Amino acid sequence: MNVGGVRQLYAETIGKAAKVRTEGLVRALAIVPREQYVGPRPWLCRPLPLLAANLSMYLPPPQSYRLYQDVVVAIDPVRGLNNGQPSFLAFCIDSLDLGLGQRVTHIGCGVGYYTAIIAEIVGANGYVLGAEIDPELAARARDNLSNLRQVARSSVLTVVSLGLFHAGSIVKEEPLLNDDTPPRLRAGGCQCGAVRYEVSGDALELYICHCRECQKQAASAFGISLIVPRAGLRVTRGAPKVWSRLTDSGHRLDCAFCPDCGSRLWHERRASATLSVKGGSLDQPLDLRPAVHIWTSRMLPGIVLPERTTQFPGEPH
Ligand SMILES: [Zn+2]
Ligand SMILES: [Zn+2]
Repeated sequence: MNVGGVRQLYAETIGKAAKVRTEGLVRALAIVPREQYVGPRPWLCRPLPLLAANLSMYLPPPQSYRLYQDVVVAIDPVRGLNNGQPSFLAFCIDSLDLGLGQRVTHIGCGVGYYTAIIAEIVGANGYVLGAEIDPELAARARDNLSNLRQVARSSVLTVVSLGLFHAGSIVKEEPLLNDDTPPRLRAGGCQCGAVRYEVSGDALELYICHCRECQKQAASAFGISLIVPRAGLRVTRGAPKVWSRLTDSGHRLDCAFCPDCGSRLWHERRASATLSVKGGSLDQPLDLRPAVHIWTSRMLPGIVLPERTTQFPGEPH
């Protein structure tokens, strides 16, 4: 199935979940390319059980189509801002009972994805005003929406900064990982205790990687990567050393470890908004049940994954 087909399936499924009656809304969901609004990969997505429970599993891998599930997508994980859940926003937009030619003000338009959907519904003779308090998001929305030909051609669309709401006020995020740790602060350290750290912010993803590099770095069967916001890391004792390597995709990966005992602590790709904490270094043992297993083609014989594990033979994207 190509991306157009995936988007159509997404639109119909979201339409059913939100009991949408506005015909133009399903069509708009099938047209507007979410990937152009949420910014470049990696996309940090998570389902939210607001209206449509477990809809997130209706599409199979590959994860390149993960944006077309009923997921929120992180825009700024540190500040907890996201591109909201499609079924919820579809429900809200549907309740306005919009039609062609109407005028709409969208307060808290974020990066403009749902603004573009509203613009599609009201059509060429409609008018949409997007308001966003955050200057950075407003700039992204202005940029995103200026590239929408049907908007630039016909609808008048202005993005201004107003002191009202921001995008994060629409949907409140829930932590992805339901372990017993207070979600906003995790502590960890190396084996000898010379280096200690804390990470704040919700965990975004949890991977278990069976690739050869991870077997080497962990000196064990696999690597555990808890993906967290980069800005949330704080070294609280000692100073790690850093060893760098090039990844297959050509990025430079900085790997932090204790200079005394050698425990690997975290990995970060330069200029990335996230980093990967090496799971075994956390004080509170992780619950690995929700983990996504990758590079299972290199998995050591004898490892048995739980039923219904999300797994990929190689990279997930
Ligand atoms: Zn150490
Ligand atoms: Zn790996």
